[in-house]
Amino acid sequence: MTEKLANPQKTIEVIQKHGFGFQKKFGQNFLIDPHVLDKIIAAAEITKEDFVLEIGPGIGTLTQYLAEAARKVTAVEIDRNLIPILEETLSEYENVTVINQDVLKLDLVALAQEENGGKPIKVVANLPYYITTPIIMELFESHVPVSSITVMVQKEVALRMQAHPGTKDYGALSLAVQYYAEPYLAANVPPNCFIPRPKVGSAVIRLKTHKEPPVQVQDERLLFALIRASFAQRRKTLLNGLKNSSELTLTREEIMKVLAALGWDENVRGEVQSLEQFAALSDEVGKILQARQG
Ligand code: SAM
Repeated sequence: MTEKLANPQKTIEVIQKHGFGFQKKFGQNFLIDPHVLDKIIAAAEITKEDFVLEIGPGIGTLTQYLAEAARKVTAVEIDRNLIPILEETLSEYENVTVINQDVLKLDLVALAQEENGGKPIKVVANLPYYITTPIIMELFESHVPVSSITVMVQKEVALRMQAHPGTKDYGALSLAVQYYAEPYLAANVPPNCFIPRPKVGSAVIRLKTHKEPPVQVQDERLLFALIRASFAQRRKTLLNGLKNSSELTLTREEIMKVLAALGWDENVRGEVQSLEQFAALSDEVGKILQARQG
């Protein structure tokens, strides 16, 4: 069996052997703690049936664990300097494919179709922190068939994903994530589990995708536009947030009408509204927009 990369000595040895230089712009912090890797694999509940998409394999540390647990792994890495390293560190795993690409430019729906017959895939990654939210939102919004996403993210982002209305971490990301999935915080991970050490604490979060969204709305795009507008200016009332949004074109009178129809106070704030309440708001605003056209 291949010697595992998940320890500081082996990681440094591989990096030095290949003369690899860390690129800050790619958010490169490689895992060196085997306990953390075991926790990621356990949280992701990977079986030999699963096709796993890994985003950013680095030198292949997590990929080795995934290859042993899953049927097939495709790992997408942007940094071409890592490709020869991955060829070496993953040479003994026949169920791994490495693609040298920016994951945001890859057609993931087509990949899931080709590799898993369109059945839900699992996504597992120690994500580059500079694009955590775009990657997760892309997976959800482009409707890639995904049963779960288990990822290392900044601790603060993990807290935002699972926050409830009225708490300081609650915001547009909480609502977006909870519309699509059920978050579960699997582990807190300190900076010393990585080379180089990130400046912030990290956490492993698993997002199990809902089969059906927990709320039904007439227009998903309008729901998200309203959520964005409500949190664009924190501490403002919902009324002002919606009125000031360039994405929406609602007048004060129209918003007052919506609030009255919902029985909400005009001073209500977005940060205390639940997903169910945003869904009701969205359908009520939808009626106004439709009436305009009619
Ligand atoms: N999985 C490895 C580990 O746990 O040790 C490395 C994780 S490191 C935090 C993030 C990885 O994502 C790096 O290898 C980086 O080069 C890669 N990466 C950054 N941006 C990317 C992108 N847009 N598409 C694909 N990979 C990317």
